[in-house]
Amino acid sequence: MAAYVLTRAGANVVLLEAGQPWDNTRDSAMLRWAYDSPRRGASIPERPFGEFDACIGGWNVPGEPYTRAPGTQFDWWRARMVGGRTNHWGRISLRFGPDDFRGRSRDGLGDDWPISYEDLKPYYDEVDRAIGVFGSAEGLPNHPDGIFLPPPVPRCYELLVKRAADRLGITCIPSRLSILTRSLNGRAACHYCGQCSRGCAVNANFSSTNVLIAPALETGRLTLITGAMVREVTLDAAGRADGVVYIDKATRGEARIDARVVVLAASACESARILLNSKSSRFPDGLANSSGVVGKYLTDTTGTDVAGFIPKMVDHVTHNEDGVGGAHLYMPWWLDNRKLDFPRGYHIEIWGGLYPPSYGFMGGIQSYPPGGGYGRQLKEDYRRYYGATVGFSGRGEQIPSADCYCEIDPDAVDQWGIPVLRFHWKWNDHELNQIRHMQETFRSLISTMGGEVFDPMPSQADGYGISNGGSIIHELGTVRMGSDPGRSALNSHCQAWDVKNLFVADGGPFVSQADKNPTWTILALSMRTSDYIAQAMKRGEL
Ligand SMILES: Cc1cc2nc3c(=O)[nH]c(=O)nc-3n(C[C@H](O)[C@H](O)[C@H](O)COP(=O)(O)OP(=O)(O)OC[C@H]3O[C@@H](n4cnc5c(N)ncnc54)[C@H](O)[C@@H]3O)c2cc1C
Ligand code: SF4
Repeated sequence: MAAYVLTRAGANVVLLEAGQPWDNTRDSAMLRWAYDSPRRGASIPERPFGEFDACIGGWNVPGEPYTRAPGTQFDWWRARMVGGRTNHWGRISLRFGPDDFRGRSRDGLGDDWPISYEDLKPYYDEVDRAIGVFGSAEGLPNHPDGIFLPPPVPRCYELLVKRAADRLGITCIPSRLSILTRSLNGRAACHYCGQCSRGCAVNANFSSTNVLIAPALETGRLTLITGAMVREVTLDAAGRADGVVYIDKATRGEARIDARVVVLAASACESARILLNSKSSRFPDGLANSSGVVGKYLTDTTGTDVAGFIPKMVDHVTHNEDGVGGAHLYMPWWLDNRKLDFPRGYHIEIWGGLYPPSYGFMGGIQSYPPGGGYGRQLKEDYRRYYGATVGFSGRGEQIPSADCYCEIDPDAVDQWGIPVLRFHWKWNDHELNQIRHMQETFRSLISTMGGEVFDPMPSQADGYGISNGGSIIHELGTVRMGSDPGRSALNSHCQAWDVKNLFVADGGPFVSQADKNPTWTILALSMRTSDYIAQAMKRGEL
């Protein structure tokens, strides 16, 4: 987004990308059948979500480790390609609401942001117009409506879920996904192949690669250098950032780019890593870190899942359930935390249906009524039971805590000789009580649908089934913004308090999570930051 806005404003930009080139129109595996591959779409080391998935990277990047403090369970997903994780993200594109910017004022926990929803609203509007998002105007208090394209109609199983949600008083509305249901800005409308995570060969969904970086390249003002692993930001004698040093992966040698302004957008934890590794006599604890907060206040979305078998969906009429690559309905947070034993909310994502199966689909057929089998009977059971399972994933807000942070490991380096991150993580009762509530809610939804859950309710000792920190892949807050330079690394323009020509434009500046996925807010915030940089450069202030 920063490259897109700054090149359009007339700046010359160099984009350093640690990973490899990618172009959806050329590289997407859209419309390939599972049987086109001897592996039937199963995962491979560099594509853990399946060999057709668009994201090159994963939980482990060869030669680029990270470490965990004893007792810490934390997983870190890293993309290594142009456009990063936006190549295969779920495209759930939710605005944070007014309350999400003032958590501390509401319940005394965490901190307020130095900006409000109103400060970001014009940028959310512009992101909607530039990129495109479908949804429905609902007028819900803390789930602001956007400038929406029409939503697709719900699928059969989603209508059944909605019926159960209505009976339980849970708000269930059309999803809000950055997928074009009408052509927009020269991009084609979706043809409902349901394979968004493979990358869209006609660019009907959003990835940074084809929707932001490609137009930025067309301006002629963007130089894209791939295979460039940034190690540190350097300073001139006056203490201004004067460029970055990176490892050219092809030669394994060191290289540098001089710059008038430096914008870090390497993902929240990686931007913190670059800052912490940028040590100098002026900043011995890392750049932009005189407050000591870089790496701190790391959060992820909380998550747990429950799936259920719905007998009334067995032997249903086979029909075309194609649609976008994601659910057509979801459930935004609908309750009042003042009446609950946890402080912040969650939303519910729905899954199920008749998507094209690949290797490993419907694992656990032995749990269904005949108890497994062989040969013809087994194949017939797969046909009968396929599509009769629905699932729910809760995605909730974690409060920043002193127990969750990353720092530089004093001993380990990656294959480029760059010191790596060490993570510390511990969930507390706020999150665990929220997860118990998710589990109970999902089980009631399934029983209201007349269904059965095969897995027992996880115990308190198992954290009620809470996912590992990092595993929902919404890491935020390691370079947080604020109004007090003693307690934040960045000011309200995501500009380093310590170095005025250094900015951060990913999830690092976030002061808190929300009961929403973060990327639409990352984009709006990055657009606002880049707009500020462009104006400040024009005024000669940078
Ligand atoms: C499977 C999946 C589903 C998701 N679904 C959703 C969703 O539905 N909704 C939502 O809001 N969010 C979702 N997310 C999260 C979303 O993808 C991220 O919030 C978003 O991509 C973050 O953008 P970013 O630019 O900060 O980081 P990234 O997308 O990770 O991009 C960082 C880029 O920086 C590069 N880089 C890293 N380190 C260096 C370095 N040292 N030098 C040079 N380059 C470097 C990387 O190669 C990468 O290209 C999902 C993520 C995954 C993996
Ligand atoms: S479902 Fe639509 S947006 Fe997604 S890959 Fe298919 S055509 Fe593209």
